[in-house]
Amino acid sequence: ARASTGKLVAVALEAKGAQGLSRSSGLPDVLFAHDGQITKRPVRALALSALWPCPGSTLWDIGAGSGSISVEWALCGGTAIAVEAREDRVANIRSNAAEFGLAHRITVIAGNAPDALAGLDAPDAVFIGGGLDGAMFDAVWSRIVPGTRLVAHAVTLETEALLGELHQRHGGDLMRVEIAHAAPLGRYRSWEATRPVVQWSAVR
Ligand code: SAH
Repeated sequence: ARASTGKLVAVALEAKGAQGLSRSSGLPDVLFAHDGQITKRPVRALALSALWPCPGSTLWDIGAGSGSISVEWALCGGTAIAVEAREDRVANIRSNAAEFGLAHRITVIAGNAPDALAGLDAPDAVFIGGGLDGAMFDAVWSRIVPGTRLVAHAVTLETEALLGELHQRHGGDLMRVEIAHAAPLGRYRSWEATRPVVQWSAVR
């Protein structure tokens, strides 16, 4: 991927004073075409950590948004199926896959999960970053085989409540992440909090 990285990546490398693309997950958000709906860098690093990408492994990235999760998965040598309902975001996913030289490893499906998952081979891991509700979970859980890793992120109270239930029912790891960035406050600085994200990760 490094040899074929595009313009955005080159700009970021210069800004970081770096020799090449970082091998660690959690690349800067500016490397991805997005409209604000993107799993932000530190939280994305935690998503990839839980997803456990390996060369040759396959991912369903459900509610793929910008495709940043699929890109970082594919950078580790796997292949990803990015499912996204909105056409404008599907265009971002395609552009990001191409920019990183990963178009051959990322398949984009424009459509609504779980219907859009029909006919797909079972993956090694699933990330649910959007559209999660009880029906979606049941559909995904019944499609994946024992040993499959599932990671879901919730920002709303409603989805968070669902993850609480799923954790009780299926075990796994439930984690809440609260991140704050230092930002100017008059002549001083103060912590600006981001919305908490709840991550549930489990193995089927
Ligand atoms: N992880 C993404 C951000 C996801 S935002 C990234 O890093 O860019 C959640 C996304 O889920 C939105 O783009 C939304 O359009 C999509 N979405 C919501 N419900 C969906 C569904 N049922 N099927 C497919 N996509 C869905």
